Amino acid sequence: MRQRPRGRLTLAFVKASPESQLRLLELADLDTELGRLDHRRRSLPETAELAQLTERAAKVRDAITIADTNLADLDRELARAEKDVEQVRVRIEKDNQRLDAGQVSNARELESLQNEVTSLRRRQGDLEEIVLELMERREQAQAMRDGAATEGGTVGAEEAAATSRRDAAVAEIEEQAAKATAARAAIVADVPADLLALYDKIRSSVGGVGAAALRRGQCGGCREMLSTVELNEVRAAAPDEVVRHEECRRILVRTPDSGV
Ligand SMILES: [Zn+2]
Repeated sequence: MRQRPRGRLTLAFVKASPESQLRLLELADLDTELGRLDHRRRSLPETAELAQLTERAAKVRDAITIADTNLADLDRELARAEKDVEQVRVRIEKDNQRLDAGQVSNARELESLQNEVTSLRRRQGDLEEIVLELMERREQAQAMRDGAATEGGTVGAEEAAATSRRDAAVAEIEEQAAKATAARAAIVADVPADLLALYDKIRSSVGGVGAAALRRGQCGGCREMLSTVELNEVRAAAPDEVVRHEECRRILVRTPDSGV
């Protein structure tokens, strides 16, 4: 778009009726609305909440894996210890049977067998202690496993609730965005192509909106007050001139309360 610089304002090559220029303000309002909706969608609190919950869920899964490994280890140790107890018990039983049956008559052999039974009973007691201790540790590990599973359930429920809240918010935003987009399309159909092209070009380069109202000497786009020189230039410009604010590059749309 060719431009003729004139002081601190620019007159665009494009010319458009005041009515068409005023329609740009409606377009700008809708673009502001669409920008606001897009920002809302990207900064929904539920998104941050869900990220935290995902982190918590991962921790819970890790805790469950650790607890399961612990339980498996303890189960193995417990099985081994119980087997040891059983072996000792069987051996004591056999020794006792031999003693009871009176098979051992040799005094020294008898004493040795009785000593063995005594030492085996001690060993059985020790092993049973180990079994009890392992059972206690297993109980604790199971409690931790249960706690993690409960936490997992809580996190899952919170995730489901946050997801449904997020989805509802997104649906509401999308509904409003669809309305604004439809309204924008209707206005676009009404704005001359060259003016629209200029508006869109400015919008993509400065961001936000491509046009703003001039009200009481202030640019609605960048909020800067126009100087007396600038206001005089606006006053001198024909109604179909498209005036641009040098400060923010936006199209300045004259309104009844522009202050010129
Ligand atoms: Zn401005």
